[in-house]
Amino acid sequence: MRGHNYRSLYMHELSIALRAVETIVEDLADHSGSVLSVQIRVGALSGVVPDSLRFAWDVACADTRLSGSVLEIEEVPVRIWCEACQCEHTLPDADFVFRCPRCAASVTEVMAGRELEILSVELTEHESPQAH
Ligand SMILES: [Zn+2]
Repeated sequence: MRGHNYRSLYMHELSIALRAVETIVEDLADHSGSVLSVQIRVGALSGVVPDSLRFAWDVACADTRLSGSVLEIEEVPVRIWCEACQCEHTLPDADFVFRCPRCAASVTEVMAGRELEILSVELTEHESPQAH
């Protein structure tokens, strides 16, 4: 496929940002006011690079009611469950070797780190034309 040549990490984040903006615009169809900020949770295993997502955000928001909104990213580290220790551990940043940090057993159960979800959207105060 010809398009594969143009695939990049940034394009990946841009498509995610565009989808998030589309979802939020649909969700806010019955609300007035403009969007101040959007909180998104990004797991370390989600395949999303937070800096790329921030960069993509402004592009994705252009010409929508989210234009000028701030993207706040909550990064979630990888948490695993170790059968041997019967204990939950957080893996160090960018350490995707799935071994227990305490006993080095292979880990098959990932408890957290795959998240990619919109947490909340902050709007400006509702402006009613009848308000006095
Ligand atoms: Zn262990």
